[in-house]
Amino acid sequence: MIVWFRRDLRLADNAALVAAVKTGAPILCVYILDDACEPVAARWWMGRALDLFDAALRSLGGALHVFRGAAIEILPAVVAATGARAVYWNRRYDPEGRETDTRLKAMLTGAGTPAHSFAGALLHEPWEIRTQAGQPYHVFGAYWRAACRAGLERVPVPTPVAIKFAAPAPAGLPSMIDVGAVGREMRAAGWTGGLEAAWQPDEASAHAALERFVDGPLANYARDRDEPARSATSCLSPFLCWGHITPAQIRDAVGARPQASDWAKFMAELGWREFAWSVLFARPDLLSRNLRPEFDGMAWRRDAEGLRAWQRGQTGYPLVDAGMRQLWRTGWMHNRVRMVVASFLVKHLLIDWREGERWFARTLVDYDPACNGVNWQWVAGTGIEAAPFFRMMNPLIQSRRFDPSGAYIRAWVPELAGLPDARIHTPWLSGGAVGYPAPFIPHEAARERALSAWRALRART
Ligand code: FAD
Repeated sequence: MIVWFRRDLRLADNAALVAAVKTGAPILCVYILDDACEPVAARWWMGRALDLFDAALRSLGGALHVFRGAAIEILPAVVAATGARAVYWNRRYDPEGRETDTRLKAMLTGAGTPAHSFAGALLHEPWEIRTQAGQPYHVFGAYWRAACRAGLERVPVPTPVAIKFAAPAPAGLPSMIDVGAVGREMRAAGWTGGLEAAWQPDEASAHAALERFVDGPLANYARDRDEPARSATSCLSPFLCWGHITPAQIRDAVGARPQASDWAKFMAELGWREFAWSVLFARPDLLSRNLRPEFDGMAWRRDAEGLRAWQRGQTGYPLVDAGMRQLWRTGWMHNRVRMVVASFLVKHLLIDWREGERWFARTLVDYDPACNGVNWQWVAGTGIEAAPFFRMMNPLIQSRRFDPSGAYIRAWVPELAGLPDARIHTPWLSGGAVGYPAPFIPHEAARERALSAWRALRART
């Protein structure tokens, strides 16, 4: 039997693995690295995660066999070379992945090797929660109420007690690579030090993060979650994204702490992830098209200098720059700050949200097309349930409100670390700080420019 691992690098709550183990036949663990699919920071995560997952399998007597190339060619070749009688995988829901899996299932089954697929990445499959008319939901609140009514109780499947592994795949198989190859390539690129220091991409670390969260911050999650200087959120997003942990496992752990009053708020955030995948399922063009087509005529600016200042954390707005530097160094950014920086790009700089979506896709270790696409379109006002375009976040108000002491800014913008609390949000008002730029554009001018673009769009549509 072949178990084809994808973004489900875990032994626990892994329905495909459990089903393959149940057959009693020896198992070959396979990962296929499709170069075209993996963005940059996420690729570092993947390289490290493959190493660590291979080590976990080796401690049980197995190994991970990694191939490089298009799955549509490689998987049938591995089946043929090993004589595997069936293939097992957990489902993925991105448009390209779904298309490949559908074709592979038909090809393999047609050639006499059944392919079995399983749920696990979500609490509900993205096509399951529908309105009474059978349509996808456009509004999160209604979606989440329906999901809760349907029940959030998907029960995690137990970890297999013992796995019978197949003999190693024959060495001459096309495109087979050393499991450590991706990790070495990424380290050779020389910019991954911050990522290495911030994360250990494996199942044990996912559960350690969950434990830290339920034993501490969960109790005050609703109150504290918007303050980036506190460690008040779970930081589980990359682990969820890469399938080291599942939402069902998280739901169980959170639900087992009845004293934690904020579990409903936290579950609703996980609900946003579910909602995002249901939106992408219904709208595979989420990343390329405005969900509200009236925005197709928006006069976005082409501003290479502004885009670069934003990407580098050099806009002169301390909270925006702190967020963009945290992203570059660690591959992660606090949710409140993601909203602020996204709003800044789209409204203060009037740059198309797709540029921001692409930069996040390259730099986030938790990048996923559904959450990223839905959130960017939400902030930009182009999504189905979005903040209206004319409602602009003021980065100064956000900064004073959510980072009042400037602790988050000090952590990521060392040029400002010596400023007193009262000056840290507006360094330009008191002569600036050495090495830190003046605001790229004054807030009022940016606001006026964005609103006139919005008014012009409305006049045309
Ligand atoms: P917690 O507050 O602990 O929440 C728990 C989990 O709920 C998260 O791990 C995540 O899986 C889910 N979640 C929380 N907030 C959201 C949300 N707004 N939308 C969808 N799911 C959510 N999240 C990603 O996982 N991948 C992305 O590519 C991504 N891109 C984003 C882009 C923008 C512009 C914005 C504003 C948000 C984006 N988010 C994305 C959502 C959110 O910022 C992160 O999920 C969150 O910051 C992760 O931190 P955490 O695990 O500590 O969250």
